[in-house]
Amino acid sequence: MAGLMAANTLQKAGHSVLVLEKSRALGGRLATRRLQAAAFSTVFDHGAQYFTVKDARFQGLVDEWAGQDVARIWFHKSTENGHSYPTFIGRDGMTTIAKYLAEGIDVRKEAKVTRLAMAETGWQIFLESGECLPASAIVMTAPTPQAVDILKASALELPAEQLASLQSVSYDPCVALLLCLDRPVSLPEKAGFWQPETGSAIGWVAENHQKGISPNGYGLTIQMAPASSAEWFEQSDEACYQCMRQAVQPYLGDSQILEWQVKRWRYALVKNAGTDYFQWIQQAPPLILAGDAFAGPRVEGAVLSGLMAAEQLVERLKSQSAVGSGTV
Ligand SMILES: Cc1cc2nc3c(=O)[nH]c(=O)nc-3n(C[C@H](O)[C@H](O)[C@H](O)COP(=O)(O)OP(=O)(O)OC[C@H]3O[C@@H](n4cnc5c(N)ncnc54)[C@H](O)[C@@H]3O)c2cc1C
Repeated sequence: MAGLMAANTLQKAGHSVLVLEKSRALGGRLATRRLQAAAFSTVFDHGAQYFTVKDARFQGLVDEWAGQDVARIWFHKSTENGHSYPTFIGRDGMTTIAKYLAEGIDVRKEAKVTRLAMAETGWQIFLESGECLPASAIVMTAPTPQAVDILKASALELPAEQLASLQSVSYDPCVALLLCLDRPVSLPEKAGFWQPETGSAIGWVAENHQKGISPNGYGLTIQMAPASSAEWFEQSDEACYQCMRQAVQPYLGDSQILEWQVKRWRYALVKNAGTDYFQWIQQAPPLILAGDAFAGPRVEGAVLSGLMAAEQLVERLKSQSAVGSGTV
C-alpha cells in the first residue's frame, strides 16, 4: 500500500512512475486468494483483515474509496467506554484497494530488486532476472529488513547510526490457515473474532462468506497470535494445520474440510514503528524509505507513509532539473 500510494501520488503530480513488485500478486500484506475445492470457489483475505481510520487525510482517501465502491464498512468495533468505530475492507477482498490504486500505473510483478547503483544522472536498479533499469529517484517500500538487504548489497555509505536504527526495526511473524468448508459455520461474533484465551494459539478467526468477499464458498481465515506464530513458524504445514484446526474444532460443527493451506508471513506487524512517516537515505539522486515501519504498524500507517514520502519527493524533484525527466 505504501508503494502504490506513493506511485499514485507521484503519477498525479506528473511524474513517470514504475512499480517493481517481487511477487506475482499486488498488495503485499493486503492479500486476497481464491481456492477452488469441489464445487466451491472460496475467497480468503489471509493478510490484513480490515483497517481502521484515525487520521483526517486517510479518512479522505477512505471516503474516496468508499465512493468508488472499492472499500466498505465491515463491522463496528466497540470500545470499553461504550463507543464504536468502523472497520473497513476492500469490496471483493483487501486487494481490491491495491488494484484500484494501481489503475493506470506501470506495475511490473515478479520483478525482485536485488541492488541499486548510482549512475551519472540518477539510479540503476538491478533485478534478480539480471535486468538493469534506470530511475531518477526511488521510493523503497519493502519491509525494512528486506530494504536493508538491498541497501547493503548496493554498497551505499549509510551513517552507522542510521543503519543501526533501520536494523533495529522488528516484526512479529504470522502463521495463517485457510480452511475451505462445505457449509456455513457459526462463529461467536458476526464475522470475525479474537480468541485471546490463555493457552490458545489462535489470535483471529474470520469467515469469509459472512464477511461478504466469498459469495460462492465458505472459508475460515485463522491466524495464530504473534507468540504462537513465532513458535510455530518453522514447523511443517501439517503440524500448523493440526494445531489450528484443533483450536477451531468447536466451531466447525458438521462441516467438512474440503481443502486447507498454511500461509506464513515473516514480516506481519511492525513491533517498533517510527513516527516520521519516511526516511531519506540520500537527497541526490533521491532515495527514500517508506512503509508501515515509519508510520505505524497498520494499513493506515503504510498509506500515509507512501503519501507523505511521495509528496516530499515531488518537492525535491521540483527543485532539481530532473523534473519530469526520468522514471521514479
Ligand atoms: C497476517 C497479517 C494481518 C494483519 N492485520 C492487519 C489488520 O487487521 N489491520 C491493519 O491495518 N493492518 C494489518 N496488518 C498490517 C498491514 O497489512 C501492513 O501494515 C501494511 O499492509 C503494510 O504495507 P506496506 O506497503 O508498508 O508493506 P507491504 O504490504 O509488505 O509491501 C511491501 C511490498 O514490497 C515487496 N517487496 C519486498 N522486497 C522486494 C524486492 N526486493 N523487490 C521488489 N519488491 C519487493 C513485497 O512483495 C510487498 O509487496 C496485517 C498484516 C499481516 C501480515
